[in-house]
Amino acid sequence: MPAPGGAFDDHNPPDAALIGDCVHCGFCLPTCPTYVLWGEEMDSPRGRIYLMKEGLEGEPMSDSMVSHWDACLGCMACVTACPSGVQYDTLIEQTRAQVERHHERSPKDRALRGLIFSLFPHPKRLRLLRGPLRALQATGLDRAMRRTGLLERLSPQLAAMESLAPRLGRPEPLPPYIHASGERRAVVGLLTGCVQGAFFPGVNSATARVLQAEGCDVVVPASQGCCGALSVHNGREEEAQGFARRLVDSFESSGVERVVVNAAGCGSTMKEYADLLADDPAYAARARAFAEKVRDVSEILDELGTVAPRHPLDMTIAYHDACHLAHAQGVRAQPRRLLEAIPGLSLKEIAEPELCCGSAGIYNIVNPEPARELGDRKAANIVATGAQVLVTANPGCLMQVTSAIQRSGHPMGMAHTIEVLDASIRGAPVSTFLPA
Ligand code: SF4
Ligand code: SF4
Repeated sequence: MPAPGGAFDDHNPPDAALIGDCVHCGFCLPTCPTYVLWGEEMDSPRGRIYLMKEGLEGEPMSDSMVSHWDACLGCMACVTACPSGVQYDTLIEQTRAQVERHHERSPKDRALRGLIFSLFPHPKRLRLLRGPLRALQATGLDRAMRRTGLLERLSPQLAAMESLAPRLGRPEPLPPYIHASGERRAVVGLLTGCVQGAFFPGVNSATARVLQAEGCDVVVPASQGCCGALSVHNGREEEAQGFARRLVDSFESSGVERVVVNAAGCGSTMKEYADLLADDPAYAARARAFAEKVRDVSEILDELGTVAPRHPLDMTIAYHDACHLAHAQGVRAQPRRLLEAIPGLSLKEIAEPELCCGSAGIYNIVNPEPARELGDRKAANIVATGAQVLVTANPGCLMQVTSAIQRSGHPMGMAHTIEVLDASIRGAPVSTFLPA
């Protein structure tokens, strides 16, 4: 139990036993992006765990404590690096929910977070935003506005939001049921997501086509909404639980054997629904059953084994591990195996692969300066590979890295893993991926 007067109440405080697992060895420090940037102990996993311990032992929640926890990207590189198996992912989630309950944020911060959470986890509202955004991009007003620097002076956070918005193509709505080509090997559900569905509809279409070509019936429940990932990662526990219940309801009646996800952050959260809804008697067992079905699209394709013939793609790609795919889900080998099986394709590894690109959910909006530094560092490492196309598996990483690569002045193509597989199956040309 937390000491009275300390930072935490007794509803899921950071677990003292998990805190006790940390032996202060420091192996995690070189993989922590904020420690790499600033070299400050309290901006390392070890320092943040120390602050949690202080809070449990009676230290009140201070602005300084919260600033160090807020600065964490939640990238989970420290979880991969830790030889003692410290579950920092659980600790920071427990801490963030407490921060949301007990810390009074500034009016500006509250307004920004209010705007983000009234928009991003709502696919219909995001789709409504497409029209004005496309108009801005088509007229070049977005670039003109960026050149004036006015928005940057007004609010660096809103400027970051604007600069991250991808070039929008046409909407590509999916039918509710897509039949497998040839012999059916599985029936899978597809999460269309919020940002993925509104800003990268081509990724969802490519996912459906590849699954279909590989012998899957694909079910796309119309009632699905947000998975709750952004809410979980920002301590909005009740909101996240509401989203999770709704998603379980949507897929439960669809009779699918697997739920396929093409956004790393969503997949890692959905695999943890058993923990998120553990205290809900009506949903605990259903959430566990649901979580067991969740697979990243590269996992399911690797599991099934490929049957659709691949056409050559003579190009060099650099593959970027999204943190929530590599560190949170341990999915590293499958996308590489699938990509390297394409004739003619050469895959380059990026230096400092464990370091986050700075996207991290809403991090690059609420903390634009460190996010930009991390983005520029990642872009330099990507450019140094000499690859023509950067490939990754998360919409947040795609937006963050695209923006950083543009700043670097070395134009290159950007694609989701599944778009490359789709192009190979369809026999699309390499030029599909290269910048105009
Ligand atoms: S989650 Fe990432 S940013 Fe946070 S402490 Fe761990 S390594 Fe550092
Ligand atoms: S979190 Fe793990 S790697 Fe980091 S200091 Fe603690 S025990 Fe060592």
